Amino acid sequence: MIVCLYDSIRGLFMIGIRIHGRGGQGAVTASRLLAEAAFIDGKFSQAIPMYGTERRGAPLTAYVRFDDVRVRERELVHEPDIVVVLDPLISTEQSVAEGLKKGGLLILNTSSPPEEVTVGGDFRVATVDATMIALETLKRPITNTAILGAFSKAAGFPKLESFEKAILHRFLGRIGEMNIAAVRMSYERVSEVKQAPIKEATTVKRDIHVGGYGVLKDVSSWRVFTPKINLDKCTSCKSCWLFCPETAIKWVENKPEIEYHKCKGCGICVNECPVDAIEFESVEA
Ligand code: SF4
Ligand code: SF4
Repeated sequence: MIVCLYDSIRGLFMIGIRIHGRGGQGAVTASRLLAEAAFIDGKFSQAIPMYGTERRGAPLTAYVRFDDVRVRERELVHEPDIVVVLDPLISTEQSVAEGLKKGGLLILNTSSPPEEVTVGGDFRVATVDATMIALETLKRPITNTAILGAFSKAAGFPKLESFEKAILHRFLGRIGEMNIAAVRMSYERVSEVKQAPIKEATTVKRDIHVGGYGVLKDVSSWRVFTPKINLDKCTSCKSCWLFCPETAIKWVENKPEIEYHKCKGCGICVNECPVDAIEFESVEA
């Protein structure tokens, strides 16, 4: 049975939410849509996106609060009631459940059921394959609206219709329709809410706010998709080598070779190759 988390802790008034994602997945937009949907449902709400030097692929966080009364707090949400994770691999490098309240709710983008997630602690888990939903509806791995429907059903608040109104307020025309399809599909496909499978708290990994370049650190876990070069099609034009922002492509015997520890999966090489010799493969697959 899906429990309405909001109703279950209504006496405490304020609900704090932390959203984990990567640049390009729409975490900031997710925070605003969530706050606006709560507002449409009659709550006071607040969205706090964390801007830094993030760019596509870099881990980032955003925060949301809503309450029955005016929200006066302005600091980050350090002990969230709900954590939303837009990226299927970010939990391998960040402690996404850090500070999550006892009995709280973790909503993960993963193709695995709640029983098989590796994040553990005394909280509940719901999962949804938001990447697949985003690809089916938006044709891009922008997973924000593809997880907000799951939020509505798993947390029991805000209403799905309120998310739809918030989406139409932000996105016009066809883009709005595609995002409505994503939020509805997410609502339908989210798993049941289950107790986290591992009772002990997950070991702290890296700091929640991390960023950097592949030349300085291993960024391979940033990837949702991995570029693969078909050397039979490659004409050695060097476009991918020239435009890769991470210098992740080296030149070996007149052919490109990807150094995967430097590759953040931005897809620029895929777009730049004039003969379609580079294809993206899903990391999870
Ligand atoms: S190899 Fe391709 S996908 Fe990887 S960082 Fe470079 S341009 Fe981006
Ligand atoms: S852009 Fe395409 S054709 Fe040109 S070197 Fe890279 S893989 Fe080969």
